[in-house]
Amino acid sequence: MSLRIPGPTPCPEDVLQAMSKQMINHRGKEFAELIQQITSKLKQAFQTNGDVYILTCSGTGAMEASIVNTLSPGDKVLSLSNGVFGDRFANIAERFGAEVTRVKFDWGQAIDPDAAKQALDADPKIKAVLVTHNETSTGVTSDLEAIGAVVRKFDKLLIVDAISSLGCIDLQVDAWGCDVVATGSQKGWMVPPGLAFVSVNERAWKAHAEAKMPRFYWDFTAAKEYLEKDQTPWTPAVSIFYALEVALAMLEKEGLQNIFARHARLGQRTRDGVKSMGLSLFADESCASNTVTAVKSPEGIDSKKLVQTVKEEHGITLAGGQASLAGKIFRVGHLGFVSENDVDDVITQLRLALPKLGYSVPA
Ligand SMILES: *Cc1c(COP(=O)(O)O)cnc(C)c1O
Repeated sequence: MSLRIPGPTPCPEDVLQAMSKQMINHRGKEFAELIQQITSKLKQAFQTNGDVYILTCSGTGAMEASIVNTLSPGDKVLSLSNGVFGDRFANIAERFGAEVTRVKFDWGQAIDPDAAKQALDADPKIKAVLVTHNETSTGVTSDLEAIGAVVRKFDKLLIVDAISSLGCIDLQVDAWGCDVVATGSQKGWMVPPGLAFVSVNERAWKAHAEAKMPRFYWDFTAAKEYLEKDQTPWTPAVSIFYALEVALAMLEKEGLQNIFARHARLGQRTRDGVKSMGLSLFADESCASNTVTAVKSPEGIDSKKLVQTVKEEHGITLAGGQASLAGKIFRVGHLGFVSENDVDDVITQLRLALPKLGYSVPA
C-alpha cells in the first residue's frame, strides 16, 4: 500500500522508529536540547532569522494562531483565495471578527499580484493580507515573492499559509517579506500529523502587541516566553518532536536546494505521466504545484470511483476533489518522502486502473 495524498505523507522508517522512544520531561534538560536543535533547523528551512514556534496542532491551528495573534476584531483584512484552503483562511479571520474583503481567483489559476495591488489601492484601511502559497485543493502554487513585493509596498502585514509548500518549494520568508508563515508537520516534513510551525518577524510582533482577538492556547507571547526557557507553554506532542529531529537531520543532509530540485522533478514527472495518458491537469500548467498534482477525471468517470479502484485494486491511495471539485478531479501528493519510483508507480497503476472504468489509455 502506498499513500499518495497531499498529507499525511509517508514517513521514513527511522522517523517512525524514533517515535517508539520513552517519554521525557518536557520541562527538563533533554527536551530543552531537543527543541533548541529543532528550532534552529526549522529557521534554516524557513530561510528566516526571525522567530519560529512549534505548536502542537495540525496546520489549521497554526492558521488560526497567525490570525488571532496579529489582528483585532473589526480589522480589515484582504483575503486572496484560489481554493478551499484560501477560503478557510478567510473564514477563520471572519469568525474572529475581522472584516474580510475576499478577492477570489478561478480555481486552477494562481493568485494575481496585480489584483492584490488593486484591492489594496481601493481600500487603504486594510491591515493584513491572507494568502495561500500552495493551494492544495487545486494543485496551484502562486508567486509569493511577487505578492510579497506588493504587500510590502503598501506596508501591510503578510500572513501566509505555506502548509503544503514549506520544506518542498522555495519560500524565502525574510527575503520575500512574509510576516507570519504557517506550515504543518504531516505535509512536506516527513513526520506524522501533530505539530505545526509558524514564523513570526518583527513586524508581526508589532502587530501582536496591539492585537486583541481572543487567544489563550495559541498566544505567541506565551510561546516566546517559554521558548526563552527552551520549552513550550503547554505539553507538546513529544513523540512527534522525536520524529522531527530525525526528519530534519535527513532534510539537512539532502540540502534545501536539492530538496526543491527533487520536488520540481517529481512535479514535472507527475504532470508528464498524467498527460501521457491523455488526461488533463486541473491547474493551469504555468502555476502547477510541485507538491500536489490535480487531474481532471476523464469525461463520464466519477473521480471518487477512480480513487476507490486505484486503492482497492492497485494499492495506491490518491486524494479526491474537495468541495465543488468532489467527483471531478483526483489529486496525487508528491511531497516529502517521495522518489521518482513512487511517481512512476502511480502512473503505472493509473494506466492499469483507468481502462477498468471505461477509459482507454493511449499507448
Ligand atoms: C493541509 C492543508 C491545510 C490544513 O491543514 P491541517 O493540518 O489539515 O489542519 C491548510 N492549508 C493547506 C494549503 C493545506 O495543504
